[in-house]
Amino acid sequence: MTFAIHGLAVSRGIAIGRAVVVAASRIEVRHYFIEASQVTAEVARARAARDAVIDELQRLMSDLPEDAPGELAALLEVHLLLLQDEVLVGGVRQWITERLYNAEWALVTQLEQISRLFDEMEDPYLRERKADLEQVADRILRRMRGLASSAVPAAPPQVEDGTQPPLLDASSEAPLVLVAQDLSPADMLQFKRSVFKGFVTAVGGKTSHTAIVARSMDIPAVVGARAASQLIRQDDWIIIDGNAGIVLVDPSPIILEEYRFRQRHDALERDRLARLRHTPSVTIDGQKVELLANIEQPSDAAAAVHAGAVGVGLFRSEFLFMGREGKLPGEEEQFEAYKVALQGMQGLPVTIRTIDVGADKPLDRGSKELSLNPALGLRAIRWSLAEPAMFRTQLRAILRAAAFGKVNLLFPMVSHMHEVHSILAQVRLAQAELDARGATYGVVQLGAMIEIPAAALIVRSLLKHFDFVSIGTNDLIQYTLAIDRTDEAVAHLYEPLHPAVLGLIAQVIETANDMHKQVCVCGEMAGDIALTRLLLGLGLRSFSMHPAQILSVKQEVLRADIRKLQPWAQIVLIADDPASLMEAGK
Ligand code: PEP
Ligand code: MG
Repeated sequence: MTFAIHGLAVSRGIAIGRAVVVAASRIEVRHYFIEASQVTAEVARARAARDAVIDELQRLMSDLPEDAPGELAALLEVHLLLLQDEVLVGGVRQWITERLYNAEWALVTQLEQISRLFDEMEDPYLRERKADLEQVADRILRRMRGLASSAVPAAPPQVEDGTQPPLLDASSEAPLVLVAQDLSPADMLQFKRSVFKGFVTAVGGKTSHTAIVARSMDIPAVVGARAASQLIRQDDWIIIDGNAGIVLVDPSPIILEEYRFRQRHDALERDRLARLRHTPSVTIDGQKVELLANIEQPSDAAAAVHAGAVGVGLFRSEFLFMGREGKLPGEEEQFEAYKVALQGMQGLPVTIRTIDVGADKPLDRGSKELSLNPALGLRAIRWSLAEPAMFRTQLRAILRAAAFGKVNLLFPMVSHMHEVHSILAQVRLAQAELDARGATYGVVQLGAMIEIPAAALIVRSLLKHFDFVSIGTNDLIQYTLAIDRTDEAVAHLYEPLHPAVLGLIAQVIETANDMHKQVCVCGEMAGDIALTRLLLGLGLRSFSMHPAQILSVKQEVLRADIRKLQPWAQIVLIADDPASLMEAGK
């Protein structure tokens, strides 16, 4: 029977497919696809881990002291039986061979399947065996950690438009959609350009990084769909309505037909927009508006150029640093990555933001809990300044890449003037280090992100030292309204049109324009077509967003007359309820 789960609409479009449920496990595990050629080795790795645990338990059994309680031996026996159970062993093998999951992912998926069976059992004794099964799985996962993976996490299978995904077995040619409790930014990257046609997570807010990466992939996503990962089962057919924030499970044929119709309609709309790709972005009254792309990886440059971006307004470099289990990329590796992004942009400018980790973007899974209040902790530029050697490695790599194209260097979460002085000193030092080596490097423009209210309020002082500013509305809203951007429980209070937020944005744009300095918005507000006219009316001429949003925003720009929008924007700015005036700007 069809049922619906409500969440937040974070990435437009409709996806229909079979659910791949990523089970939450007590131990943090990585999820990635292996290559078909690695299946045998991966199955062997899973088996070796299982065999090692069997050995360990057998040793424990034989070493049990005489006076050990009988229950202990019985328990170990149960664990040994479970370890040899074909349902567990065969299931893991199947997920690896048929779906190309890495061994850990295969194990937690199978564990979840079996857990559901246990939940349905009448007999309380058998139901309780679920806990034993979890302990056994934990032991195997710990063993797997010790056993080198047969594969470096393989890049997810690349799917060119329209081609069949390579990872599916013949029996499951249906499109796949991913359902999870939560996905780390690192997991999202693994899944980028994979076979998945949509995402559903149980947690997350509108500007959580799961949402941002889904938007950058331009695939439908719903986050904050509570209990989705419990209510949806492996291989259930689901519809993800990324426009309305609804997930429909087990849809009836009539509902399916309706959504297929909507899918076709969306596709036609996209084709129509694609015709605007080469149209210059100019308003009716002749004002040029710069439309830039936000990217997470160098390879995203292709999508940016394809969408007609005139540059990259935000390269979130932290994605190069994530999920590497402590081994951060060195100068050479980073230099190559930045160079690839520049070359990909074919001579167009690229704004590279220095590493912005912390809060909802931990470097590795599991490292989030280190601070009690991570959003207010040692994150972004604060972390870079606390780790000057790491920071200068990144600065040197960016400066060297700047010899290959136009680079703007952007610093996240600046809030104090003494940070500005430290940043500039580190840049000079990095240049001196390159000079000492005789290395070639380029000239860069320096900019600050405005994403903390304090920074917005001192923007005039900041712009005495920086060439440009970029407004990060995702964090600016979070910090102005004290709303955790990743927490679905307060998502209804996350309001871009709050008068306080608009006041800060307007002040930054006005000050920068007044000082003849560049100002851009690179938060999610820049890609929201409901806000394009307002931002234009407030004086913004540079927007940076996911490539997938560029053409829709361009359409708004082409229809806008700034002479009319300016007076209206000033009224919106002083209104108690700006949202009620938005219709009037159309
Ligand atoms: C922002 O805060 O608006 C921003 C662009 O940075 P991020 O989303 O990466 O925190
Ligand atoms: Mg930010």
